Amino acid sequence: MIRRLCVIGVGLIGGSLALALRRAGAVGEIIGAGRDESHLRKAVELGVIDRFEIDADRAVAGSDVTVVAVPLGAMRAVFAAIKGHLAPGAVLTDVGSAKHSVVEAARNAFGELPPYFVPGHPIAGTEHSGVEAACAELYRGRKVILTPVEKTDRKALQTVKSMWGQAGATVEEMDIAHHDRVLAATSHLPHVLAYALVESLARLAERDEIFRYAAGGFKDFTRIASSDPVMWRDILLANGDAIRSLIGRYRNDLERIEDAILKEDGPGLQALFARAKQARDGIATGVNDLEA
Ligand code: NAP
Repeated sequence: MIRRLCVIGVGLIGGSLALALRRAGAVGEIIGAGRDESHLRKAVELGVIDRFEIDADRAVAGSDVTVVAVPLGAMRAVFAAIKGHLAPGAVLTDVGSAKHSVVEAARNAFGELPPYFVPGHPIAGTEHSGVEAACAELYRGRKVILTPVEKTDRKALQTVKSMWGQAGATVEEMDIAHHDRVLAATSHLPHVLAYALVESLARLAERDEIFRYAAGGFKDFTRIASSDPVMWRDILLANGDAIRSLIGRYRNDLERIEDAILKEDGPGLQALFARAKQARDGIATGVNDLEA
């Protein structure tokens, strides 16, 4: 049971965690913090948080657990604002989609990585953002990856594991660099491709016709291009090396396909598609599998 939870950034991810913990009866009071008072008032109205503070340092005071759920580019400023204001023994965690950059931001802001800081990343989400999109069921049956380091306090790690368990998720641990490489492939590259495809087609002269006749496949493939541009700007900049390397591989594969078309190499195309189909058929599907 968390006596007092502080959520900094009460949007889709932070708000959904607050709702899930409240529904599970796993939390006493929930305090929110963010930049925009009207968003925080809305969060109170929706029953996501009990009260709020605009200043993050005031919000964390007296909280047992603080969850930082702001875009990656805002993490460092939030850590700097709460430095010295967390209660002794209080646990700090985050939900950022790339872990190396968050750990560096924390190290930078706190001077060294605090042992009570447990980096985390829920593999769940939607293309919507803001507190209105928050949902108590978002994490049910989903995975949460924690990337503790050697110095991470075991009790703090246990607190964060059990918090996500109460929210309905299964928790796994992973090395930071491994996390960032895996997520670059499973989530970040697909978002790049969806944004690039919509951008390319939107600039064609026939764009209105193309979008008017958009069929299921196009809509499935491009749904994630409706995701928040600020969040995705930050993820691409934060995990740039891993993403760029995958873009290079993908470009090579596109060129192979282009070349096969040029050479009218039907068997080559069919073999490539058959390999991809076999790989895809082996993946368990889920509506939210491509989230950040
Ligand atoms: P969101 O719905 O836009 O929520 C972000 C929240 O952060 C908003 O409540 C916003 O409130 C607040 N915020 C933004 N900039 C801030 C700043 N500079 N200082 C303080 N608060 C700020 O976004 P989200 O989808 O929940 O994403 C939040 C985090 O979760 C990101 O780090 C993202 O990488 C990670 N994540 C996202 C997904 C996904 O699929 N969406 C999945 C896993 C992890 P105000 O505008 O009122 O300040």
